[in-house]
Amino acid sequence: MTEKRRLNVLIVEDSPDDALLLADALRKGGFVVIERRVESAVELREEIENREWDLVLCDNNMPDLDASSALEIVRRIRPEIPFIIVFGGISEEEASGVMKRGASDYISKHNLSRLVPAVGRELARYQDLALANTRIGELTRYDGATGLPNRQHLTGFLDSILKGGKNAAVILVELCRYSELLNHAAEASLLKAVAENLSSLNHGGMIGRTYEDRVAVIFQAGSADIEACTRNIVESFRRPIRIDGEDLFVELRAGSSVSSGVDAETLLGQAETALHCARNKATAEACFYSEWMERKRRERFDLEKALSRAVINGEFTLAYQPQFELESRKIIGAEALLRWNNQGEWISPAEFIPILEETRQILMVGEWILRKACETARRWQLQGLPRVRMAVNLSAVQFRQPDLAEKIGIILDETGLDPGCLALEITENIAMHRGPEIVSTLQKLKMQGIELALDDFGTGYSSLSYIKHFPIRKLKIDQTFIRDMMTDKCNEAIVRAILMIASSLDLGVIAEGVETIEQIELLRDCGCSEAQGYFFSRPVWEDDMMALLREEEVRRFSMDSGDAYGVEFGGMGGIPV
Ligand code: C2E
Ligand code: MG
Ligand code: MG
Repeated sequence: MTEKRRLNVLIVEDSPDDALLLADALRKGGFVVIERRVESAVELREEIENREWDLVLCDNNMPDLDASSALEIVRRIRPEIPFIIVFGGISEEEASGVMKRGASDYISKHNLSRLVPAVGRELARYQDLALANTRIGELTRYDGATGLPNRQHLTGFLDSILKGGKNAAVILVELCRYSELLNHAAEASLLKAVAENLSSLNHGGMIGRTYEDRVAVIFQAGSADIEACTRNIVESFRRPIRIDGEDLFVELRAGSSVSSGVDAETLLGQAETALHCARNKATAEACFYSEWMERKRRERFDLEKALSRAVINGEFTLAYQPQFELESRKIIGAEALLRWNNQGEWISPAEFIPILEETRQILMVGEWILRKACETARRWQLQGLPRVRMAVNLSAVQFRQPDLAEKIGIILDETGLDPGCLALEITENIAMHRGPEIVSTLQKLKMQGIELALDDFGTGYSSLSYIKHFPIRKLKIDQTFIRDMMTDKCNEAIVRAILMIASSLDLGVIAEGVETIEQIELLRDCGCSEAQGYFFSRPVWEDDMMALLREEEVRRFSMDSGDAYGVEFGGMGGIPV
């Protein structure tokens, strides 16, 4: 014997007798019916809002409410519930009109034989819909690849802790490098294994995937020491974890935050900020949110926005710092240095150039710098000023352009500058990207007659082997060695060693950051032939640089009398360095 099905039926009907007839027809059809009759919009809304109904049967001919309005009320609150119109005095056309507006079926009061099959069919459809809804709910709350709760689900969970006025903790764990090493399926297995490892630490709460290779542990913090928990997590991954039958040491970073008085998105955002901090630190695997991190992040973002505007509007200028030959005491070159005034404030290139590099905007700006520096050097020559070599700094990012040498060749052609009057300063870190392409670019540049100098020598990934591979003409001793050369014997030894290496490899040397006469004397003693620094001149604007070149012919340096070069140039330019 099949079990009778319970049916909660809401009957919208002004006639109690008709309502009874309908309920009876359903009972006869095998349902255990619990019915309720309403006849006004207010009653209907009240019932639909507050009670669970399986079915609505609605008369089409009532004094206070028509079927269309009733349908609208029901659909607005419970869009999926079966709604069947029972008509007495209207035509089928009218009833089918209401169907078009979303009713499930229409039945004549004079022929109720269709009622039970129609209800059965609609209930089955409703059940399918409910199942589909549950599945959709799962899909929207769980990550498809790992089956772990997704960000939306985690946020909801976090929200429920915070809304209860409790302290919530968020620990974000991010795997390093694996998205590059693994395909999606393998990455998902790894994330699942990581999540299992995290759950074995028994923090309770919920563990899920917030984003790509990032897993979150969210729990009610109570008196838990979140910093200790986070460290604990990092420690637990010092042991290998088992993935697909193999043991693997997993490299990760963690960021965490704990709070009670904020919303879920804010708390997740704070943990993300802490994670960014951990990611950028070479030393720390875990960071805990603190307000300064957010401030730094905002400042950095504001700077990025201002910088994009500067690139679009061309807000950059070039300053020039003369370079001297110590023996002849002549200006032999000028280094072009990028300057940016952000709404009244000079920003150091050491601060904004790395951003231009990260965002690759240095490609556009770098081309502008090259063109501008070459044009300027050519203009000086056309005005009869002494021929000096223009030194331009190039970023490693620029070196990754396969057609860099050709681009520079075109700039030289278009500006009319002799390639021998251009020097390119590259830093040691391009050696990290050493490859046949870079060596070939450097070779092509050298073949054009351009001088290549290795900037900040001694600070980067110094390796004598790549000096051999690269067609470098000159080493530029980093200013940190020059600065303490007089007091720090070790720095003096480094400077001497660099000069010796350069001499045996037949390379030129220029010292940068020279600030005192004593440094110049020592450098000369060690055999250094060229120098650049505040002692001679700070970086100056173009007009002042031209004035220095104009004086070149008449100026004589008198080192022995202690008549420092800087005195002659003192106060020129006034550009912040
Ligand atoms: P760098 O190429 O090593 O430039 C030398 C830096 O030392 C310049 O700083 C210069 O103003 C400063 N300097 C020169 N003489 C002295 C001195 O006697 N004492 C001290 N304390 N400093 C001195 P600046 O202009 O702030 O540039 C910093 C760095 O930014 C540059 O180091 C270079 O790596 C980068 N940079 C500057 N302009 C450009 C550019 O146009 N393109 C690229 N890619 N990088 C640039
Ligand atoms: Mg330089
Ligand atoms: Mg330098």
